[in-house]
Order: sequence, then C-alpha cells, then structure tokens
Amino acid sequence: MNERLDTHLIADEPYYRSVGNEVQLFEAAMARKLPMLLKGPTGCGKTRFVEHMAWRLKLPLVTMACNEDMAASDLVGRWLLDADGTVWHDGPLTQAVRHGGLCYLDEFVEARQDTTVVIHPLTDNRRILPLDKCGEVVKAHPDFRLVVSYNPGYQSAAKDLKPSTRQRFGAIEFGFPQAETEAEIVMHESGVSEEVARGLVSVANQSRKLRGRGLDEGISTRMLIHTGALIVEGISTHDACLLAMTAPLTDDINLQAALDGFVEAQF
Ligand code: ADP
Repeated sequence: MNERLDTHLIADEPYYRSVGNEVQLFEAAMARKLPMLLKGPTGCGKTRFVEHMAWRLKLPLVTMACNEDMAASDLVGRWLLDADGTVWHDGPLTQAVRHGGLCYLDEFVEARQDTTVVIHPLTDNRRILPLDKCGEVVKAHPDFRLVVSYNPGYQSAAKDLKPSTRQRFGAIEFGFPQAETEAEIVMHESGVSEEVARGLVSVANQSRKLRGRGLDEGISTRMLIHTGALIVEGISTHDACLLAMTAPLTDDINLQAALDGFVEAQF
C-alpha cells in the first residue's frame, strides 16, 4: 500500500537567491541529520528555500501545512476501509520516515501539542516513529530529514513551541532580503522591470515599519511578486498595488490609507 517517494523528487532547480550562508548551514545540518527549524515572516522565501535544498540534496520532498485542526493521524496515517477491508495508509510523515525523504512541516506551531509530540522519538538518537494505531515501530530511513517552519511574529504564547520540542532542533532565521536582492527576486519571479521592482520593494519596506503599529505583518516578497505579475499583465501600477498588496494586507481604513499613500508617493 505504501508508495515510494520517487514522484516527490524535484527534477528542475527551483530558483533560490541566497541571502547569506543559509545554504551552507543547512547542508551541514542535513549531513548530520539535525532536524531544522526555519523561522521568519510569511512570504519571505522559507518554502522556496526548502524546495531548492531538497533539489540540491536529491531528496524527495514531502510537504504538509499544519493547522490547529490537524490530528496526529494526519501526519502518521490511519486505517481506511476499502474493498479488501481495513487497510493502513501511511501519512506524509510516515512515508518520508519509511522511504527516506525530506519532510517539511509548514507553520508547525499551528499544530496542537498532542500532534507535535509525534515527532519527538524521530528527533533524537532513536530516529523511530511508533505507529500506535497499527502496532508498528518504523525505523527512520537513513535519508529521512525533518524541517519545520513557523512565523515567530504573530503567535501567541499558547502557540509557542514547547522547550522539549524546540531543543531537538537547529534553527535558521529568515527575514526579508536587502532591498537590492529583493528587487532581483521580484524581477526574476514576476518579470517586471528593475525600476518597478525597486519601487515595489521600497513600498514594502515602508509598510514593514508599521509592523506592531497596527499591522501584524508588512508587505511580503510574495505580495510584491503577485503585484509585479499583474503589472506585467498590463494592469496599472496603482491598481496592481491596491489589488495585491494594500487591500489584502489590512481591513483598517486608516492603515490602508497610509499604505496607499506610500504607493502614491512612489509611483
Ligand atoms: P514562506 O514559505 O516564507 O511563506 P515562500 O517561500 O512561499 O515564503 O516565498 C514566497 C515567494 O517569494 C516564493 O514563491 C518565491 O517566488 C519568492 N521568494 C522569496 N524569497 C526568495 C529567494 N530568496 N529566492 C527566490 N525566490 C524567493
């Protein structure tokens, strides 16, 4: 019943513009089988980084977005009824553990603690995954790696990772790149001109200064790419900025006026 993970291998290099020594650090951590925590605001490149690294390391990539309704069985697997009776189906984590691959759990702090503890025996010397519901203990494949990400910016204390979970990981902090680098990324991903990309990044950097002063998050690289792509489609810069940056970011009229002011001043 268990599929092999060859279909999860990434054939073509995902574009990733490194911003520091994160590629080297991550490679060293993976070589030592150290589970990794990637911290940083939403839309700053964590997922793209993981895709790029999975390609570089030639590891199948199994991704799962976590949320508070997720149960441990969503990760490890469950019994399902089919024509032959009840059959065990491995969840994404179990597949990566069994066949060898990089398991990426996005927004890991969103998961409840009874779910997060599932990874404990995998993240110490045991490297095992007990499947309580089917009485099996899966020994991790030598190519199994675990990477989780979260955004420390907007989480409540109740959702913080427990020290007993945290201390099993190494961590790399991600942030938004320097303006010039971010403009390069926006140009590459959206096809917009350098001048427009620089202008968009400048608006984003102004919005990021409003973080904590009404805004939970500033405009992300992802939003800049969406905006750039609309501009390439022939939408006016103002309309594109409104549609893909300022309107989605906040419902607060005053904040939106402030953001629109940044756009007006820039373009
Ligand atoms: P996160 O996982 O941090 O929420 P993503 O990795 O999905 O963010 O980033 C959003 C988009 O921004 C990506 O799809 C990619 O187009 C772009 N991006 C951000 N940072 C980089 C980078 N350093 N190199 C290449 N693309 C990037």
